[in-house]
Amino acid sequence: MSSELWKEALRYFPGGVNSPVRAAVKPYPFYVSYGKGAYIYTEDGNSLIDYVLGYGPLILGHANEYVKEKVIEQIEKGWLFGIPSRVEIELAKKISLHMPSIEKIRFVNSGTEATMNAIRLARGYTKRDKILKFNGNYHGAHDYALVDAGSAASEFGVPNSEGIPEEVLKTVIVCEYNDLQCVEKKLKNEDVAAVIVEPVMGNMGVIPPEKDFLKGLREITSTYNTLLIFDEVITGFRLSMGGAQEYFGVTADLTTLGKIIGGGFPIGAFGGKREIMDMLTPSGKVFNAGTFNANPISMSAGLATLEVMERENVIEKTTYVAEKVTEELERIKYPHVINRVKNMFQIFFGVEKVSNATEARRAKKEVYLQFQINLMKNGVYFPPSQFESVFTSLAHYDDNIISDTILAIKKSSELS
Ligand code: PMP
Repeated sequence: MSSELWKEALRYFPGGVNSPVRAAVKPYPFYVSYGKGAYIYTEDGNSLIDYVLGYGPLILGHANEYVKEKVIEQIEKGWLFGIPSRVEIELAKKISLHMPSIEKIRFVNSGTEATMNAIRLARGYTKRDKILKFNGNYHGAHDYALVDAGSAASEFGVPNSEGIPEEVLKTVIVCEYNDLQCVEKKLKNEDVAAVIVEPVMGNMGVIPPEKDFLKGLREITSTYNTLLIFDEVITGFRLSMGGAQEYFGVTADLTTLGKIIGGGFPIGAFGGKREIMDMLTPSGKVFNAGTFNANPISMSAGLATLEVMERENVIEKTTYVAEKVTEELERIKYPHVINRVKNMFQIFFGVEKVSNATEARRAKKEVYLQFQINLMKNGVYFPPSQFESVFTSLAHYDDNIISDTILAIKKSSELS
């Protein structure tokens, strides 16, 4: 029973969990027993259509057969060597084929490591200390990213974490998302190594960039010789095979990836222009290393996932599901706004427009939570936090799953 497991968990883990958003499920987190396709099955014997999907990586759904086969094949051969293996080259080739701005890449183990290292690299390359980020953007859980951060940092009221030295905080400049004037002013007045941005904000709910925001960032950063880092941990291989860069037609100097490229196994990566990437150890003097970097299991799962995506038009299919689900969400009587970009979306209640984090924080979180709980009762799992994105998978591309979701939304829409 989940209730019993939760009691035990509270004894062993701070707040009962190993990553904060997992504690947001009310009245207490359910425990998952297993997942298959679009469904997760709980320790309490319930099944839920899963629209969280591990917070993004599982674009093929749970336990995809082809990915499973490839991972088992790799497990048979051994799972860790600390020595290069063929599959890391195959995955790198595939990524840079689809994302030509990634001429060279380094595989790490999480999105957090990806952005932490990309930021260090930008500093090393430009010989400048400051970075600029946006209010509500989430780039992982390291010191330089936990300033006005979204996702669980916002959900739990700590967009600025304690425990980060003042000296570090002074190097992080924050602008409001979609505010180019702020960026222009800051870059003009201070030496900034890099602007890091989520090209679609997926950590405050979903917030799309306004027309010309990304293009504007490209122009301003070029003018001041500041690097532009696209954090595509969510958007990479989600909005299009070439990520947000292809979708919006704007090229970054450095790109961070994670989630989908590991097919549900731990991964992060950062890549970009050859001359910048070659500053990394061992060819250069900006340090990065990792026991588990490019581990063959994550490489195999990621490669298998991208192969399925190439074969099966996954982005259009997952977008179709998102369109059908949001069409039904539109019918909810309680005033709301829905932000959707392709196959990622979120609903905000009690507001008319959400174009930055400040507006997202004004939405009625308690109504969202009520809706999310109603949905769970009706067999559908949406993120337990307003400040996460709803995702769809290939396994959701099924008339029954779509109609069951629509029915659950209808039954869950009595909100006060
Ligand atoms: N960047 C973005 C845009 C993310 O959404 C996340 C995680 N949700 C991260 C970085 C951090 O990735 P990880 O949780 O793998 O460290």
